[in-house]
Amino acid sequence: MSKKILAINSGSSSIKFKLYLMPEEKVLISGAVDNLGASDSQFSYKTDKASETRQLPIKDHSEGIQQIIEILETSGVVKDRSEIYGVGHRISHGGNYYTHAVEVTPEVEKRIDELKVLSPLHNPNGLIGIKAFEKFLPDAKETVTFDNSFHHTIPKKAYMYALPYEFYEKYHIRRYGFHAPSHQYVSEKARELFGPEQTKRMITCHLGNGASISAILDGKSVNSSMGFTPLAGVVMGTRCGDIDPEIIPFLEEELHIDSHEMRRIMNEDSGLKGLSGVSNDEREVEKAAKNGNERAQLALDVFVHSIQQYIGAYTTDLEGLDTLVFTAGIGEHSAFIRSEICKRLGYLGVKIDEAKNKENALSIEAPDSKVKVAVIPTNEEIIIARDVMKVTQAQ
Ligand code: ADP
Repeated sequence: MSKKILAINSGSSSIKFKLYLMPEEKVLISGAVDNLGASDSQFSYKTDKASETRQLPIKDHSEGIQQIIEILETSGVVKDRSEIYGVGHRISHGGNYYTHAVEVTPEVEKRIDELKVLSPLHNPNGLIGIKAFEKFLPDAKETVTFDNSFHHTIPKKAYMYALPYEFYEKYHIRRYGFHAPSHQYVSEKARELFGPEQTKRMITCHLGNGASISAILDGKSVNSSMGFTPLAGVVMGTRCGDIDPEIIPFLEEELHIDSHEMRRIMNEDSGLKGLSGVSNDEREVEKAAKNGNERAQLALDVFVHSIQQYIGAYTTDLEGLDTLVFTAGIGEHSAFIRSEICKRLGYLGVKIDEAKNKENALSIEAPDSKVKVAVIPTNEEIIIARDVMKVTQAQ
């Protein structure tokens, strides 16, 4: 029998949600709470019959979740809340504990809380969502899809850091990789669309406010630019990505700040925002750069360069490249960034058709490109909803 499954996708400053009829994968209502905590926060939703966007102050994740709960009740998509069979949550860090999605238990909650130190922008917000739905839907099944699970196939030589080995044994310090539902979704979609041969060696670029690059061999993740935490890798909206580790104690000593403040600077004040001094929003930075703002241009140059470097490195991991995929806010919408990235990839046989690129077409490679270049809108929520079905053995 069909089941109603709710997918909750909490980001650092947004919550996306979709209620599905499963296994048909029909969306009954979808929506998002955006810019949480900012003066321009908003709530939007869409059903078959209606859609609405409300500008209203939404202080934090708790208030955001309340908006979602209310709309489920008032929009008419369910007559009674007990019709919702299960709720799936995306949680950033599962540490060394989980290689697959799991059902929520007190122990799972404890571990998510314990791991918040490794994902300060995400794990605590995810837990707020879990607890809110425990109250609102006490009889529904709740599951967690971890942002690392799809990366559990990364080989040891790629996930080990060259620190004393006992730190790996004692503290599980290793690369975990993140944005798993997105890399999983777009890589599976690319394989479905272009076939296993054309997607044997694939690099997926999730470029949103958070950004990560993944190397995928025969459908399995073999590397991720994010590491022990989602702070590592390419330049992001507010996160610095890879930096020389010596910079951290240097600044702590120089500025007389503790590790908590240093962590905040690297997570919230850096990246496109810190470099440009304009915004963490790539559209704003692009606009400023086009108007002659040199720091905005520099921020974009450093961002693009960091992505090109990972694509080069991962092509070595994969011993070649068959398909390059762009996804998430910037990857799906910024023709400028895609074009800038691909400009230096001619040596790999990447060549894009600028007209198709401007249209955000599904395939943007030129006819004589050796590499397929795809723009695939991500759908993390469907991976979360499928996980609810799998974990609760509803199918
Ligand atoms: P997250 O889910 O990590 O919060 P998103 O995937 O929504 O982030 O991506 C946010 C980024 O995508 C921002 O830098 C924003 O500028 C960019 N972005 C979103 N929509 C568009 C668009 N229509 N055109 C260009 N860039 C966009």
